[in-house]
Amino acid sequence: MSEISVVPRIRELDAYAPGLSIAEIQQKYGLSRVIKMASNENPLGASPLAQEAARRHAPFLFRYPQGGNPRLARALADLHAVDPRRVVVGNGSDEIIDLLIRILAEPGRHSLACFDPCFSIYPIQGRISGIEVRRCPLGKDFSFDFDALLRLVDQSTRLVFVTTPDNPSGCCPPREAVAELAGRLAGIAPHCLLVVDEAYMDFAEDESGASLLASGALPDNAAFLRTFSKSWGLAGLRLGYGVLPPALADYFWRARLPFSVNILAEEVGLAALADTAFRQATLDAVRQGRATLRDGLTALGCTVWPSAANFLLFQLPPGAGPARNCFEALLRRGIIIRPLSSYKLPEHLRVSVGDAAENAAFLTAMRDILAAPETAGAHMNARLPLVTLDGPAGVGKTTLARRMAESLGLAYLDTGAMFRCLALKLGPGAEQLPEEELRRRCEHWTFSIAGKGMSTALLCNGQAVRGEVRTEEVGMLAARIGTVPAVREALRQAQRAMGAHAPLVAEGRDLQVLSGRRARSARHAPFARSGQPGRTRGTDHPDRADPPA
Ligand code: PMP
Repeated sequence: MSEISVVPRIRELDAYAPGLSIAEIQQKYGLSRVIKMASNENPLGASPLAQEAARRHAPFLFRYPQGGNPRLARALADLHAVDPRRVVVGNGSDEIIDLLIRILAEPGRHSLACFDPCFSIYPIQGRISGIEVRRCPLGKDFSFDFDALLRLVDQSTRLVFVTTPDNPSGCCPPREAVAELAGRLAGIAPHCLLVVDEAYMDFAEDESGASLLASGALPDNAAFLRTFSKSWGLAGLRLGYGVLPPALADYFWRARLPFSVNILAEEVGLAALADTAFRQATLDAVRQGRATLRDGLTALGCTVWPSAANFLLFQLPPGAGPARNCFEALLRRGIIIRPLSSYKLPEHLRVSVGDAAENAAFLTAMRDILAAPETAGAHMNARLPLVTLDGPAGVGKTTLARRMAESLGLAYLDTGAMFRCLALKLGPGAEQLPEEELRRRCEHWTFSIAGKGMSTALLCNGQAVRGEVRTEEVGMLAARIGTVPAVREALRQAQRAMGAHAPLVAEGRDLQVLSGRRARSARHAPFARSGQPGRTRGTDHPDRADPPA
């Protein structure tokens, strides 16, 4: 056993939960075409000039980039009509957020303040840096209460984060309100920086009216963040930038890793800036698509929040069932949107604006799903056979299930291995975490199955689950974690999703209880050596019912 010891604040860290990838969903549901409307990327792709620049500069991949990316900084200074000494660039605006926190706040002494919910990188990087993270709840309509935010600020507070337009709501306060916030903050805490994250500002109908950066009146205590990941269509390249007070920009360059913006990012970023026609086409497509989606969802009875960004936050009509079911029903149709449990908004969904065909496909799918919410809830396709086996521990359910899967030519779902795998991923002591926290952690792990019969493989986040889950230690972790309702529910949902797209044989009662009409239960089958078929002892946790194979 390794003696390597990880510092507690990292051990307890909740990782950033990205949207699901196209490859994951293709694999999980056996789909050839998947539409991704989950990560607020550019619906038109990457600019042709940017792609051409990537090809042109490929021969120079062996070179280091120029230190400090001065050409890029100058081009961005021209774009925003600011002093080039203010402009910094980073490996995505994520890197700039991280560095600002580390430059300004000392572990154990300082704090940052942000809204709740908010873009999760602010609190995550704050915790990684060992500083206190203070959260101010958003209003019920997702509005900003700057008075309440300022009440969290004291002399220990070194950064205040405001996202405008906000993620995930799309809410965009007037720029005068942000300017006033900066002024009041300077009065309360002169050492504190206001970070105004304008990642989505270009999509506002009236960018120059909504953006404090665009106004040119930059408060001394404010930093502005922008990114190439959205309207410039370069999310995969990782390029973001900031406009900072000049003295802070100087420290930024000292602290930044010398080459974090690589040679392609620099050249392709410059080419993207020059492709003004593509940029305008993107802005037009997003503004138009946003209106189409808003009108379409509203017509379906959804509540849609006003958004100045390239995504919409919405809630299903009353009686439409849980948002999670709708999200999964969309997945089965090959459309990925963003569930918001990780933002503590389990009944809300966020959809990124796609191109015209994607928007239409999404609205058609939503119409189908909302027309038959019971189908969305039950997850079940009545034509797919599903066999579940239940019974006391030690009667050989696993062996029987495997053999049955083999002879029926169906996949075998090892539900016990799912518990063990999740227990291993969550780590020792996870059962003591608050349920909400555990629920969020569970969302990072998705399960799928590949193959059939004896050779069925269980995959977790696309990786085969192997013998590492078959140790006694992991068995004990699984037994503990399996008593937590949030974990049971997460795995039940995962089982339901798999049962919905693949005919399978599984152990335990989770699928059986939920599938109702189509499960052919073997619960009372005469295989129980104990002679007492039926309920397992006191628990329906597969690992309790059957000791590790
Ligand atoms: N800020 C906000 C509000 C965001 O939503 C995102 C991306 N999801 C970022 C910053 C990070 O952007 P980048 O890709 O430049 O790191």
